[in-house]
Amino acid sequence: METAYEDLVRVYEKIEGTPKRLEMTDHLVELFTSVPPEILDKVVYLTQGKLLPDFYGKELGLAGKLIVKTLTFTTGIGEEEILTLLREKGDIGLAAQEAIENKKQTALFANPLTVERVYGNFMKIADASGSGSQDLKMKLLAELLHDSTQLEAKYIVKSVAGSMRIGIADLTMIDALAVAFATKERRDDIERAYNVWSDLGRVAKLLAEEGEAGLEKVHLELGTPIRAMLCERLSSLDEIFEKLGECAFEYKYDGLRIQAHISEDEINLFSRRLEDVTEQFPDIVSALRESFRGKEGIVEGEAVPVNMVTGKFLPFQEVSHRRGRIHDLEKAEKEYPVRLFLFDCLHLDGEDLLDETLTDRRKKLGSAVEEGDDVRLSTMLVTENKEEVEGFFQESLEIGGEGLIAKALDSPYVAGTRGWNWIKFKKEYEEGMVDTVDLVIVGALAGRGRRAGTYGALLMAAYDAEDGRYKTVCKLGTGFDDITLAAIPDRLEEHKIPAKDPKVVSNMKADFWFSPEVVLEVLGTEITRSPVHTAAWDVVEKGAGLAIRFPRFTGRWREDKGPEDATTVKEIVEMYEQQEKVKS
Ligand code: ATP
Repeated sequence: METAYEDLVRVYEKIEGTPKRLEMTDHLVELFTSVPPEILDKVVYLTQGKLLPDFYGKELGLAGKLIVKTLTFTTGIGEEEILTLLREKGDIGLAAQEAIENKKQTALFANPLTVERVYGNFMKIADASGSGSQDLKMKLLAELLHDSTQLEAKYIVKSVAGSMRIGIADLTMIDALAVAFATKERRDDIERAYNVWSDLGRVAKLLAEEGEAGLEKVHLELGTPIRAMLCERLSSLDEIFEKLGECAFEYKYDGLRIQAHISEDEINLFSRRLEDVTEQFPDIVSALRESFRGKEGIVEGEAVPVNMVTGKFLPFQEVSHRRGRIHDLEKAEKEYPVRLFLFDCLHLDGEDLLDETLTDRRKKLGSAVEEGDDVRLSTMLVTENKEEVEGFFQESLEIGGEGLIAKALDSPYVAGTRGWNWIKFKKEYEEGMVDTVDLVIVGALAGRGRRAGTYGALLMAAYDAEDGRYKTVCKLGTGFDDITLAAIPDRLEEHKIPAKDPKVVSNMKADFWFSPEVVLEVLGTEITRSPVHTAAWDVVEKGAGLAIRFPRFTGRWREDKGPEDATTVKEIVEMYEQQEKVKS
């Protein structure tokens, strides 16, 4: 028996209607347990607005004008009228829902939509390329719309437009999978399985088919990126030593994190967001081929642009020129040479190393890699002597590093988790300033005077991983040069929405709202309590949240981060506590 697509969209409507994580979980459990296990992976992807995890690079985005054209010939409504609907509703899915009503009489011969058919057509739309592909894409979409109900049309169009975001955090999905298919005690193991496979659909299907016993099958695989281990921060070396005792300090390189999967016939490179960036760094691929002595392995490091004459690091922006580039790769390679500093080894010649200690992983990394001009090991110092670390810290800054990362010698590699086994220590901390934070743009205020026609300030939010929502922390209007400022409206246009996104929690009114997508790096002077901003509301003080004081854009668009990778509310609270400690 095939599953009706209508069953999915009914649940989406319920999820969209609630901001409460527990209710969302209940609806998801209902959905996960009502569909056949063999299609659960597809159901999970569709619910996330995807066809596959990001590292497959399968994008469903169909240009708005093609969607409007398709709606026109499916419904018989003129293009102008569809555009008016779009303006009124402010969302292409809602416009489709309204427009499709018109086609009702003609749809007597409709063939009810199944999940399999919708997914199948979506896949064909994503795969279509070359001449005639636009017509083919429209035909595939029209087939679905011809047979869809109004509600189905809303979600089909949202999906193909790439705006199917009903606000379910990964952690909520994991909670629902635990309730649906396992015992409470195994919830963390499900999270671990997700961190290793980076694929919620695949984990869901495994659980539905095999129950929690299936979790034993989740191991590292070459070619499947693993979610990165992340660091906490502390503002003094004394505190670091208190937490870790004797530990390893490494230079903190300022570049792009790269996870390399090396086998005898292939090398794949993945970014911090687990996108496949192999094609953008052919020089890293060949340098790794040269340096790697094992048969197969997974190693991690930071790719940093370097001045090959002085050996000094260049600003991070230089390497960002290389990302997303598909043309002139050779030119980019020469203009912006990068050096890869490896700091971890997760797999070597058939052996998973995640549970081994840092000391052992580092030894294996050393044995597997022969350092050359383009591939080096991260510079490391193992010590418990504060003065030694201070000198080492200065050295890191002198060659263009950002500071140090302290690592617990006996720690395993905990994928996808921000923990105290890795602690970053940057120059700013010592001066009592807050660290840079990566915040999501959720709204904007109209500019006046010199800024008329662009935005006066952006409303910025941190991600609350607890409930999957975005909580505001500041208005950002400083740090933009004129060119950036003038370009911002264009850059944000595709994310503009008519009203506040349901995932955004804000007491402030904005003139423009955006779906939480774009992440910027911001530096403030302090974190203060705020009667307005909603991050950590009631946490530090009843009736108040936390805000970033005197925020300034550092100039860095964090394209390597998705909204869920932004600085979390929990981190903001920790930074506030750190800062108060330093003050007292
Ligand atoms: P995060 O990746 O933790 O969300 P971020 O991208 O803003 O945050 P930081 O928290 O400032 O980066 O630092 C962590 C990042 O530093 C790592 O993800 C990695 O890309 C980079 N890095 C540089 N040098 C090292 C090193 N020696 N060991 C581990 N990571 C390093």
